Amino acid sequence: MSNSFKELEDLKSVSVGIDNDEKGYIDKQCPSEECEFLFKVNNDDWLNIFKDEAVWCPMCRHEAPSDQWFTIAQIEHAQKETLTVVEGLLGKAFSNMTRNFNQGQSKNSFVSISMKYKGSNSRTFTIPAKAAEAMELDIKCEKCHSRFSVLGSAFFCPACGHNSVTQTFSDSLRKIKAKIDNIDVVRKALTTASSKDEAELTCRSLQETCISDGVVAFQKLCEGLYEAYGKAPFNAFQRLEQGSELWEKAIKKGYADWLTSDQITKLNILFQKRHLLAHNEGIVDEKYITKSGDSVYKVGQRIVVSPNDIESLLAILKKLSEGLIEGCGVV
Ligand SMILES: [Zn+2]
Ligand SMILES: [Zn+2]
Repeated sequence: MSNSFKELEDLKSVSVGIDNDEKGYIDKQCPSEECEFLFKVNNDDWLNIFKDEAVWCPMCRHEAPSDQWFTIAQIEHAQKETLTVVEGLLGKAFSNMTRNFNQGQSKNSFVSISMKYKGSNSRTFTIPAKAAEAMELDIKCEKCHSRFSVLGSAFFCPACGHNSVTQTFSDSLRKIKAKIDNIDVVRKALTTASSKDEAELTCRSLQETCISDGVVAFQKLCEGLYEAYGKAPFNAFQRLEQGSELWEKAIKKGYADWLTSDQITKLNILFQKRHLLAHNEGIVDEKYITKSGDSVYKVGQRIVVSPNDIESLLAILKKLSEGLIEGCGVV
């Protein structure tokens, strides 16, 4: 057997490299079939901080050993490269064999047979998998300091599984902003694709969900931050007054320390609107009027959520959360 065939026979595995992107990040993908979330991790951190035993998906927190996070594209690329290398080695082996055969032909034999091999001349080395385009949102875990990046949002650190309440909160605010900023695009697209009526229904619903998104995100942020001080009563942070009192006791500061009274009034109306939407289909009742002090509506009317409402909600929650995060000493 020629040396080239030996080379093939000895081939146990083909290594295919993976390129970093321009920021020094490598592509990873959640191996859970339900999720397949694509993200990137800083290559230095992948080598130094990440553990072999467990890596977590930033989106669904699926947990798996570190060798299971190759992307589908990387695996397909590696399969193609392996085939190329095997083909290349086969080609090399056959052309060597042909040459040896032809050289071995005796001059004085009666019939001269020579061989020609027209096989592939493909390479016998691999080309690394290219990195996908860099992602926009760079995150550094507040607990283990590993760096990773995602498109859209992430809930968990892939290196330690930590769920950052502040990260989740800022992601939620960005989501609300994206919804409200794109409402006209959605309306136009739907008007063309289906009907004006459906466009209106969808957009109104999209706008209304922004309120509950904001309230729930704020509640989760408060619950997470408050853990360091004790256990808050169930849903306490859905109620502004009760929430503020809890913070007064915990960190000696309440909502009035960060917001003007107009902002507190507005925020209270928005919290009450969320309550109405969640529990009364948005139809105004006596309780709403008493609790919100909103004089715009009479009992039996349906509340309206305007883009202005959402803008105010975002601005107020941002200010309030910055104060709270600083007050709790969370960086
Ligand atoms: Zn996942
Ligand atoms: Zn971490």
